[in-house]
Amino acid sequence: MTDEYALRGAGLRRALADAELAPLLPALAHLTDDLSILEPGLRPGDVSQLIGQAPQGGLGQADQDRARRLAEVVITRWADAGCPPPVHPAPERLLEIMRFLAGPVGPGQLPLLYHQLGIREELEPAVPAPVPDGFLAVIIGAGMSGLAAAHHLRQAGVPFVVFERNDDVGGVWLENTYPGVRLDTSNFCYSYSYAQGEGWDDYYSPGPAVRRYLQKVASDEGLRDEIRFGHEVNSLTFDEAGPAWVVEATGRDGATTTLRANVVISAVGQLNNPRYPDLHGLDVFEGPSWHTARWNHDVPLAGKRVAVIGTGASAFQVIGQIAPEVEQLTIFQRTPPWVMPTPNYARKLKPGLRWLFRVLPLYQQWYRFNQFWINVEGRRRFAIVDPDWHRPGSVSPRNAELRDALLARLAETYADRPDLLEKMTPDYPPYAKRMLRDDGAWAAALKQDNVEVVTEKVTEAYPGGLRTADGAEYPADVLIFGTGFAASDFLRGISVRGRGGADLHERWGDDARALGGITVPDFPNLFLLYGPNTNLVVNGSIVLFSEAEVEFVVSCLKYLFEHGLRALEPTEAALAEFYHRVDAASARMAFGVPGVSSWYKSPSGRVTQNWPLSTVEFWEMTRAPDPSRFRMW
Ligand code: NAP
Repeated sequence: MTDEYALRGAGLRRALADAELAPLLPALAHLTDDLSILEPGLRPGDVSQLIGQAPQGGLGQADQDRARRLAEVVITRWADAGCPPPVHPAPERLLEIMRFLAGPVGPGQLPLLYHQLGIREELEPAVPAPVPDGFLAVIIGAGMSGLAAAHHLRQAGVPFVVFERNDDVGGVWLENTYPGVRLDTSNFCYSYSYAQGEGWDDYYSPGPAVRRYLQKVASDEGLRDEIRFGHEVNSLTFDEAGPAWVVEATGRDGATTTLRANVVISAVGQLNNPRYPDLHGLDVFEGPSWHTARWNHDVPLAGKRVAVIGTGASAFQVIGQIAPEVEQLTIFQRTPPWVMPTPNYARKLKPGLRWLFRVLPLYQQWYRFNQFWINVEGRRRFAIVDPDWHRPGSVSPRNAELRDALLARLAETYADRPDLLEKMTPDYPPYAKRMLRDDGAWAAALKQDNVEVVTEKVTEAYPGGLRTADGAEYPADVLIFGTGFAASDFLRGISVRGRGGADLHERWGDDARALGGITVPDFPNLFLLYGPNTNLVVNGSIVLFSEAEVEFVVSCLKYLFEHGLRALEPTEAALAEFYHRVDAASARMAFGVPGVSSWYKSPSGRVTQNWPLSTVEFWEMTRAPDPSRFRMW
């Protein structure tokens, strides 16, 4: 009921009871250009605890009361003045507001603040010099990164065509429709800086809400007209005489479309080629089977005996959802996940907070910025390897402290089920694999009478179910593969031939490499979004990374146009130097430790997926091309 809230009096106090105070005070200071509300005693502390975030920036009750009283005075005064729109404060004042939340940051961080608050007019315009006649960019994919590319090229006045194999935008959020699909990072951070979303309902949105958000952005920006849906790109061939990329795509009707493009931007993602288990006899299994990313909604699971292979992020969400309805659920687990207790994982945002987001300009932007900033360094410190630390199952004293805290929670959770406690206790360090989030639903599902967790290796299928290495049989009517994706197989299914006929897949083998995760020697004007070593695990924001990568592409184009050039590619020396740093940094992260397998690594064991350095480093690297690291002609 929103009529219980108002900009004055008791209605305002009711709304403020639901407010998140840490970003509210900066938002009000920004809105009114009056910084007196930013009292030093009300500054949020270090909110990233061993487990979860401290509520209300760690403020005690008396400070929370004071912050609410101050906010009430400021909002009432603003309302009495007729709710004037914000006038952005001078840069040094905005920096002071940022410091209230983010601590001692320097003026160099201001562009990141402007970017993340969506204040574009303060940023250096990314509009290239006049775009040469006939210039065309091709974007492959209309998921989160592809839409960001389309947005930025549109802003820069660069003509483009998008090929999308599906019939709508959304990428993984279109393809993954399994029960329980939900973001496990804050939805505020999973929004574009230039389209921050109105009216998120949740802290961690269900999949359909994320899909609707991406669809709305595409429609609102009029991007759909530029997208050729149902078209799968099969080959990219570089024509040196052009120079141009010859792009071939196949439509649903089997017809081939060929385009010549000056630039190709791959936005095909890392997690869209399902990986199936290599099980003997799968073809003889008599029931239906499918991958989590290809959910079969035609088969109701109620009353069925269902087997799920895998307990990664996707299977984890599925299991919590289907356990109550199926007759029997058998879960085949190879490695237990670490689970971060997250009480508000499935909770709705409080109504007063949502109301304030709607009526107070800049509040949602500062809330998003706060979530983003908490993630900038995020939980990286818990994942950094201390070479002098040798306790098994951990990589540093801090990592061990986290491990102990999580173990204590596990012991509490499964106190009544020692069998499950044993099965669900990981022996590898926290953050060596993806940490999952749970509000209690996972353990509750596992404890149901109709649920069994099997840790014996599953070896084969038979007509009526699955068999494990010890010969035991597990009858099943339906098999569900939660077995992940061929993530390190970048650009799978697309033949890519660069300069001199160089074959990208041969060049890479199992070991994809790209400068900044974006460009590859001998493949001029080919730009990869969410490419090698740009996935994020413990810090940063995947949406910021995609935006930063696209901004880099636009600034490369700007450079080329301004200098009358037509192509660029990175030098081998620059790539080698980059990987010298990246591989060394990966080896110092929990996800790089040997002996733990995950989709972060290629089959050779090298971390090919993750960004191991800081967010700010990636942001700075993507502001403009360093001419000494590229060949341009
Ligand atoms: P995944 O993390 O790679 O998990 C695959 C699971 O299948 C693991 O438990 C794996 O065990 C198991 N497995 C694979 N092959 C097997 C075999 N032959 N026999 C038995 N078990 C087998 O894949 P995912 O769960 O689809 O998640 C991939 C990524 O997608 C996530 O890390 C995340 O980045 C993203 N994602 C995000 C969300 C979200 O935002 N909410 C949701 C879903 C997915 P091992 O661990 O032993 O390999």
